[in-house]
Amino acid sequence: MTAGNGMTCALCGESIDRAGEETVFADAGRWLAENHWQDSGMLCRLCLENRGRLAMMYLNEAEL
Ligand SMILES: [Zn+2]
Repeated sequence: MTAGNGMTCALCGESIDRAGEETVFADAGRWLAENHWQDSGMLCRLCLENRGRLAMMYLNEAEL
């Protein structure tokens, strides 16, 4: 464990890079992390994007 060297993603273990391109999927994933999974800030952008993408597909079928 190395303190002060940034956080790593709880899912894939990659370092969390807050800089970078925002996408609608990352935005959706972040919203889900804050409102549903309560793990906001623990996942990298890629995992947020993957979650957001899957959730949007799933929610489209289930609730829209
Ligand atoms: Zn990740």
